[in-house]
Amino acid sequence: MTVKSACPMRPATEPCRRPLTTSTQVVLLGTGAPGPDPARSGPATAIIANGTAYLVDFGPGVVRRAAAAYHKGVTAFGAGVSALRTVFLTHLHADHTAGYPDLILTTWIMGRKRPLEVYGPKGIKAMTDYVLRAWKVDIANRLSGMERAAASGYGVNAHEIMRGPIYADRNIRVTAFPVNHGEMKDAFGFRFETADRTIVISGDTAPTPTLIENCTDCDILIHEAYSEQTYRRVSRKWQAYRRKYHTSSRELAELANRVAPRLLVLYHRANPGGGVAAANPEDALLNEIRDLYKGEVVTGHDLDVL
Ligand SMILES: [Zn+2]
Ligand SMILES: [Zn+2]
Repeated sequence: MTVKSACPMRPATEPCRRPLTTSTQVVLLGTGAPGPDPARSGPATAIIANGTAYLVDFGPGVVRRAAAAYHKGVTAFGAGVSALRTVFLTHLHADHTAGYPDLILTTWIMGRKRPLEVYGPKGIKAMTDYVLRAWKVDIANRLSGMERAAASGYGVNAHEIMRGPIYADRNIRVTAFPVNHGEMKDAFGFRFETADRTIVISGDTAPTPTLIENCTDCDILIHEAYSEQTYRRVSRKWQAYRRKYHTSSRELAELANRVAPRLLVLYHRANPGGGVAAANPEDALLNEIRDLYKGEVVTGHDLDVL
């Protein structure tokens, strides 16, 4: 999907700031949650700025979704996803990190010659070390055997981040801000600023003032949410969990009304429990938000390009 029009539902008293036709692209690689939904890979989002790909989160399926995007024309990933080098991680939950060995090893095997640069919460260095140790037989074989993969490529420079500016190059500036993800203490959202767009990704969070502070004047807000419809169908225990860890449709609509992003994109949509076979129509969430928020809002799907 390519979004061409901006703010068609905005009241006439609130003009759009500028048209949504830009060179920076957002590629949704994984819009799912922990449930293994074949249509929705684990959370992963790419921002393409000035022809360079930047990845946020590496849920299961990330490399194959990036390869699919490459075949759709997003050439910044490179053949075999070997051009992807700069990565940001919101938090260490498995649905956001289970693609890590794939991300490190497959892109190296397919030709990446420089280390990955990974920026994530405290604990990402240890996770990186464990992954490389777990695959040490494969790595040694590829370095010394007939494949002779580039020794410079399998390494990872893992950077443990704090709130504030965490990365900048000639294409993009990245700011991390803490979010409110229950007992998962080190959880971040990210604000990306390019020459033509500001993009904010919530990561996993209950409503938090830091999101509002960082999305002021943002072009695209990519935010997780659960519907009231699914909330009513889970047990009291899981209702309490949702209130502490995640954001309801009503809460997200209230937040969107405050920050007025030019486009709100829904991802990481909770199911009603009982596995992915349980009905979870995406319209339920979308309609609940549209009842309370009149700006432009869409449900994200894997391989959407915004
Ligand atoms: Zn999480
Ligand atoms: Zn998650």
